[in-house]
Amino acid sequence: MSKKILVLPGDGIGPEIIAEAVKVLEAVRDTHGVDITLEQDDLGGAAYDRYGSPLADETLARARAADAVLLGAVGGPQWDSIDPALRPERGLLKIRSQLGLFANLRPALLYPQLASASSLKPEVVAGLDILIVRELTGGIYFGSPRGNEVRADGKRFAYDTLPYSEDEIARIARVGFEMARVRNGKLCSVDKANVLASSQLWRAVVNEIATDYPDVEVSHMYVDNAAMQLVRAPKQFDVIVTDNMFGDILSDQASMLTGSIGMLPSASLDANNKGMYEPCHGSAPDIAGRGIANPLATILSAAMLLRYSLGRGDAADAIEAAVGKVLDAGLRTADIALPGEKVVGTAEMGDAVVRALKVA
Ligand code: NAD
Repeated sequence: MSKKILVLPGDGIGPEIIAEAVKVLEAVRDTHGVDITLEQDDLGGAAYDRYGSPLADETLARARAADAVLLGAVGGPQWDSIDPALRPERGLLKIRSQLGLFANLRPALLYPQLASASSLKPEVVAGLDILIVRELTGGIYFGSPRGNEVRADGKRFAYDTLPYSEDEIARIARVGFEMARVRNGKLCSVDKANVLASSQLWRAVVNEIATDYPDVEVSHMYVDNAAMQLVRAPKQFDVIVTDNMFGDILSDQASMLTGSIGMLPSASLDANNKGMYEPCHGSAPDIAGRGIANPLATILSAAMLLRYSLGRGDAADAIEAAVGKVLDAGLRTADIALPGEKVVGTAEMGDAVVRALKVA
């Protein structure tokens, strides 16, 4: 039966990079017989302009009915001054929480061809292949009470709450263990258990779940040390599992080890492996409309979609191999080019991946 994919280009460079990922998905229909139907709708600023809301009810219904969602990026300066409740990013947070996408997978994989684009020495990062599993629907970004007020003494005061239930921790820990099991068998849980009560529960629950995975070597690290180790010796990590805020920060840090945020895909999964797939970067308004954005993070997100939500690891492997071939051939978008390297545009890069896929 045909699988339905809802495509949400979003704002800024979103439509440009999504067009290339769509070309690649259409190509695997032919090369791998992947039976997919693509539908398109708006999210973020584009949805605000069209529907008056960054996530229209009808779009959410389409997302619920789809087998997977492929997203470009949302946001841009033209929506910075609108009602905060209607800002593009609200649409993104809402679709993630409404679809129950609690597990965010962010691989930080350094293509050997790009080792010299990393800000770290090539010998520190060559062969880097980390997967960060971030809890996405709980913790301090969603906790209540939260607020700000002016106290009796006239001073402003603001507060947030960092809550986690044992069930929320257990389900993300299981995702981390399952991923480690099919990779190199090492899971590092990152917390701040020396200070935070929520982290003490986090560590206890991870240790309880570990008894179901005797084949996975589990370790624990405080988040401050993890931030340091990620730049000191990043190859010590295989899978990292962590909470929403720590994962937000560490995954951006890990992304820079690979040279460009334009290379990094992500997946956000629910309990049944239905997911939303998107590049880690934003809508890059500074380069939107110029045809120079790197589409590879979005193309690699489409590969993750095929692997995790459609069970087509074969087609995903082929797309990842095609990206490797294109890099081998020396094609670079501006963000990953070194001085003297030939620079190609967004569409040229997408077309090259499609060609590499077809000759495989
Ligand atoms: P950004 O990731 O959009 O851009 C940061 C820098 O990286 C920019 O210089 C940009 O040109 C460059 N860049 C990003 N993607 C690139 C690509 N594919 N190819 C080449 N260069 C690329 O982050 P920002 O500038 O902080 O945010 C811009 C907008 O995006 C804001 O409105 C922000 O809220 C939004 N945003 C959205 C998401 C999302 O949709 N998931 C994530 C982060 C930021």
